[in-house]
Amino acid sequence: MWLLLSVVGMFGAGIGLSLWFSLESSREEQQRFIQYEAEQTRGNLVRHLAYYRLLLDNAARDPELVDLMESGTIDARQQWIRSRQRLLPEIVELALVDPHGEVLGETASLRIGPECRQEMRRPGALTDGRPRVHREVAGAGHVDLISAVRDARGNLLGGVFLSLRLTQFQRVIDAAIHPYHAIALVDARGQTIVSRGEISGRMRELRLPVADTGWTLIAQTPVQWLTRSGWRQVVAGLLTLGAVLLVLVVAMVRLRHTMLRDIMSTVDALTALARDETVPKIVPRYIEFEAVAADINMIALHLQEQRARLEHLSLTDPLTGLPNRRAFETHFPLAQGLAQRQHPVALVMLDIDHFKQVNDRYGHGVGDQVLLALAHSLKALTRRAELAARLAGDEFAVLLSDIDAAGLDAWYPRLSDHFRSELNALGLDLQTGLSAGQTWLGGASGDTLNDALARADRALYRAKARGRGQLVQDAAPGADGAE
Ligand code: GH3
Ligand code: MG
Repeated sequence: MWLLLSVVGMFGAGIGLSLWFSLESSREEQQRFIQYEAEQTRGNLVRHLAYYRLLLDNAARDPELVDLMESGTIDARQQWIRSRQRLLPEIVELALVDPHGEVLGETASLRIGPECRQEMRRPGALTDGRPRVHREVAGAGHVDLISAVRDARGNLLGGVFLSLRLTQFQRVIDAAIHPYHAIALVDARGQTIVSRGEISGRMRELRLPVADTGWTLIAQTPVQWLTRSGWRQVVAGLLTLGAVLLVLVVAMVRLRHTMLRDIMSTVDALTALARDETVPKIVPRYIEFEAVAADINMIALHLQEQRARLEHLSLTDPLTGLPNRRAFETHFPLAQGLAQRQHPVALVMLDIDHFKQVNDRYGHGVGDQVLLALAHSLKALTRRAELAARLAGDEFAVLLSDIDAAGLDAWYPRLSDHFRSELNALGLDLQTGLSAGQTWLGGASGDTLNDALARADRALYRAKARGRGQLVQDAAPGADGAE
């Protein structure tokens, strides 16, 4: 879960950062674009105005006009105006004014409104060179320009008045503007002269002063939080995040499943080991687990072998390698079961005669060899299903199945002979024999180990008492210990 959250966090931060960079660069781009657009438009406006002003100034400096202003007739002046009017394209009106701003000539025929006349009468109107905007009459908006006419000594003789349609300025800004932007030319009082486009909502604005006019050009652009490419970036980022998360979740679920299976098979193996059952080999599916699984498999194998060794040791007599008393006790119920299924099973207890003397006379080592010789004989003369065990010291017990009294009588001398020949093979010339006491395991009534051993022991005692080197049978099979 933490891994998933970290991945989501990192991706989120990555998308956020890249979006922020893209927004910043898009904002700077927009800013540069609107700046460029506004400066271009302002340049065009200034050039437009400068063109007419130049024409007007040239006309005002015409030497012919100075004479006309000083001493010309009205007709001559009208003539001059008409000749100049033809040279000036797209103007509303051209007129001459006296030093007080009064229009000369037939004022009735001129298209000069009262507001324009009043404006011209104001002090400084002839000389300040500022354009004046008039929008009083709807659809007849125009800009008035005046250029002073002076004589050779610099005395003010009057001025040349020129009126330009606002549509010319409108054309300039129409040509420059981007469809999503808005632009407006405003005069010193903030009144709009011409404009194009309108923006509602959040916007970015740039104001540029138009030199020598008192006008300001205002350019506006809408603020876009996310541009198309920004949205594409967000969608692409989210899709990538989704894909990565999906892959991660699937990988984690699969990994978890695989790991759990490996852990379960490890638990099974350890449980079997603890219960002393056959330990199943762990076959890991998660590749990273292979080394650990191999180690656990090896440890389990090692423990199993060790346990088997210990079990063997705990059930084996160390000197003779025969089963010991514990093994005899463990095996006894099987023999008991056989007896209950009506198979005659004989328990024979054996004891070496005068063994103490052997030890005393020849030493403990020879004694051990005698014990080993008897063990060899027992191994040779007991079938697989039967059991011969060393109970203690020179005392041995044998369980013989499917045998009768006659069979026992035949078996005992073969064992004694074998034992003697084993001793001879060792080069031991000992006059020692074997005493044996036998009993039949109780059948249907059941029998206990102690009872059976006690009966066999009593028979053995009788064999010793009768002079040793003989087998004494306890009773006939099924007599349950009765002599
Ligand atoms: P009996 O004929 O009445 O059986 O006389 P015995 O001398 O054999 O007497 P008993 O069976 O009581 O003696 C057992 C002896 O076995 C006593 C002990 O010193 C000896 N003994 C017990 N364990 C070992 C062993 O592992 N090695 C040797 N060498 N001697 C052992
Ligand atoms: Mg003995």
